[in-house]
Amino acid sequence: MKFRLTKSREMILNLLNNKQKPLNAEMIYELLDEKIYLSTVYRNLELFLENNLVSRLFINNTAYYYINKTDHKHFMVCLGCHDMFEIPCSHFDEGLLGDHQDFKISSHELTVYGYCSSCQL
Ligand SMILES: [Zn+2]
Ligand SMILES: [Zn+2]
Repeated sequence: MKFRLTKSREMILNLLNNKQKPLNAEMIYELLDEKIYLSTVYRNLELFLENNLVSRLFINNTAYYYINKTDHKHFMVCLGCHDMFEIPCSHFDEGLLGDHQDFKISSHELTVYGYCSSCQL
């Protein structure tokens, strides 16, 4: 790890670890027991992303972060109610590479956006 695990960083990582769903900076800010600056939350999330500790997805241009684990998951995001549903990573199929099977994947991102059954009219 390139950075020092300060108290605030530890609190944010613990929070992300305990939550089963991606959180945005303001949600993290509200959920933290000890108050730290919102700007600190943003800065630390960027740092976690650079260090590959978290992954990021976007809903309406807002960044949500979730912790990276070896058996990591992806999410389907409802654009109506913003609920999120886990997709196991096994759904990321190397068949997606098509004509580029010689492409060496070092990391990947996958988020599916749409509407859940209760948000479909
Ligand atoms: Zn929905
Ligand atoms: Zn994956």
